Amino acid sequence: MTVFEGIPVSPGVCIGRIFVLDTAHRRVARRRVSPDQIAHEQQRIRDALEASSEELGQLLTEAEKRLGPEAADIFGFHRGLLRDKSISEPMLQRVADEGVVAEYAVQEQFRVVADMFAQIPDPAFQTKVDDIWDLERRVLKHLIGEHAAGIARLQQPAIVVAPELTPTQASSFDRDHVLGFVTDSGGQTSHTAIFARALGIPAVVGLKRVSEVAEEGDIAILDGDRGIFILNPDEETIEQYRGYQKHAAEIARSLEDLRDLEAVMRDGTPIELLANIEFGTEASAIRTHGADGVGLFRTEFLWLTSDHEPTEEEQYAHYVEAVREARGKPVTIRTFDLGADKYTQERALTPERNPFLGMRSIRYCFQNPQMFKRQLRAILRASADGPLKIMFPLISNTMELRRAKMMLHDVMEDLQEEGIAFDRDMKVGMMVEVPAAALTASAFAREVDFFSIGTNDLVQYTLAVDRTNEQVADLYAAGHPGVIRLIKEVIRAARRHNVDVSCCGEAAGQVEYALLLMGLGLRSLSVTPSRIPYLKRVIRSVDRTLCEQLARTVGSFDSERQVSAYLRDRARRLFPDLVDGRAVEGGAG
Ligand code: PEP
Ligand code: MG
Repeated sequence: MTVFEGIPVSPGVCIGRIFVLDTAHRRVARRRVSPDQIAHEQQRIRDALEASSEELGQLLTEAEKRLGPEAADIFGFHRGLLRDKSISEPMLQRVADEGVVAEYAVQEQFRVVADMFAQIPDPAFQTKVDDIWDLERRVLKHLIGEHAAGIARLQQPAIVVAPELTPTQASSFDRDHVLGFVTDSGGQTSHTAIFARALGIPAVVGLKRVSEVAEEGDIAILDGDRGIFILNPDEETIEQYRGYQKHAAEIARSLEDLRDLEAVMRDGTPIELLANIEFGTEASAIRTHGADGVGLFRTEFLWLTSDHEPTEEEQYAHYVEAVREARGKPVTIRTFDLGADKYTQERALTPERNPFLGMRSIRYCFQNPQMFKRQLRAILRASADGPLKIMFPLISNTMELRRAKMMLHDVMEDLQEEGIAFDRDMKVGMMVEVPAAALTASAFAREVDFFSIGTNDLVQYTLAVDRTNEQVADLYAAGHPGVIRLIKEVIRAARRHNVDVSCCGEAAGQVEYALLLMGLGLRSLSVTPSRIPYLKRVIRSVDRTLCEQLARTVGSFDSERQVSAYLRDRARRLFPDLVDGRAVEGGAG
């Protein structure tokens, strides 16, 4: 029995067999195939080489146009290597000789070539070693992308173990086949983690080398509440965890009774409880979990789970579906927040050096105005069907906000001219997730109807901590006094200008931070649907004074450690059955 400790990102306990999913950046396991599979594996290699070569051809043409012939030559060199039989033949041969999977043969052959280049004394060859790794990643991506898709065809339910998972891969999981997942890397508020919570799949990330140790078919326990993963557990431990599962099911049942009750504090203060969703169909969560509407519809997932930009009609269908599922309750649609850890397949081919600080979100929309306008049209058309609000992500200066609003008004005029119905009074808001925007919230408040505080990004930008990097996960803290001060600033500006304000970051779904946010004055929280019953219970059990006192005490602390220790202690005392001893439900820190 081996116990691993990582970062709990999606609650729940599961026990089952392991399915090891290799992804492109780490070593691929040497997996054997039966003799009748050899021809199939060889064909996978040919297909992956062909697809990579085609992709390089496109990159070459683009680079010639944008960067000139010298830069384009690099892709030409890569393509030449791929077409070189002295590289591809040994891959095919290895599959036949050793009876191994395609990705292993590809990886091993690239290793041989890289070693060969490294040993040639001429520095011109040594600098080419990175090109070989780049090529390896490209070809493996084609192979493993296909492999990942295979997960949808998993026959037996299993716990997925992987070095890392993209949000797109996680979004292809279904609960009937994937009991839970664990990864070597990852952070508390990465979009992969958010997806796990949305799907209700227990998950632990940041387990370092688990994917190298775990073997397909092993039995394991995944504890998404405490961040623990146990390989080959003994009988006694399995029994103990079955007990946890039973207890959690009892709590979940007890919370079901709250579904149709209002989220009102004991002193009568109402709290708006909204749902965060990624697909239109999920808006039904409003009814199943008893929410007051959708506070965040992450529309970019429509694109991430498809191989093309969703057309206006496709988008319209999703947005209308959300509006109809919401049955008169408001739906807040956020415009595409692509980039950072949410790359489309096409953009993943040309990664940025600092994607979280790069061409992401609203910036990418401005760079692609036709795409942005298509989305605005689809949103506006859907606004004719029910109460819909629009919100722009990653706004960092007022010019961006004005530009986005101007484009929205242009599209309104187009629709008007075409005689197409839409809601002219649709509320327009923005995410406050860049520290500069939080500090200058007053300036924005004059120009929007509402703010939604995105703590996931606000924390990472304020503390300079990548939200997806397990190595700095200890530093990622929503309770940092600097973050709290920014949140206070936003709430103050919103009040002064009579603008609605909500919080849709993951922190809002955690018992302890929800108490703090309400104590700071927030009356609206938007969370993963499965967290709604928990929060409802919390809200209905406390009163405003308690939350305000708690926020005042927190305000007197000067370190994040004090804040989180205090909040955890209070939450655990108030709700011992909802807040676990070590990790807090909901994951985000
Ligand atoms: C946030 O940044 O807090 C947020 C809600 O948006 P996302 O997690 O999609 O970046
Ligand atoms: Mg964000």
